[in-house]
Amino acid sequence: MNKQRIGLGYDVHRLRVGRRLILGGVHISSPQGLVGHSDGDVLIHAVMDALLGAVGLGDIGTHFPPSDPAYKDASSLTLLKRVVELLEQAGWAPRQISAVLVAERPRLSPYVPQMRQNLAQVLGRPAEDVSIQVTTHEGLGALGRGEGMASWATALVYKSEPGAKS
Ligand code: MG
Repeated sequence: MNKQRIGLGYDVHRLRVGRRLILGGVHISSPQGLVGHSDGDVLIHAVMDALLGAVGLGDIGTHFPPSDPAYKDASSLTLLKRVVELLEQAGWAPRQISAVLVAERPRLSPYVPQMRQNLAQVLGRPAEDVSIQVTTHEGLGALGRGEGMASWATALVYKSEPGAKS
């Protein structure tokens, strides 16, 4: 039987006028984008931490420190690819992601299919294994005032054993 593990990731980023808004690797037309050392893709950051957490490999701050200029404005899809490689080196592979993106505006549901495709491609899974739900914060608190966006993600990973089916 294959070994399986689950992981949880959470991230939050501030919004700032003049930044590009990138979510799930999709460039979304918006007057403001997420502040971050990389492209600020809060959804992918939560997914990466869920994957790393599942296998006890630390977090993205350890692997991609903000102090390292190599990650300035880095594409989070590229960083996700690196996380998948780290898992592979430890004998693990992603099986399923379920993520929630909290954003007061703009309306994000039209972009969800492309986000799922982008993540699925890097994870080497079909798009149906990558669930992304978008919701608002109902006007409550900083997220509700549109000062930033947050994301939660869970990841299921498996370890292949000889002769076992994945
Ligand atoms: Mg982040």
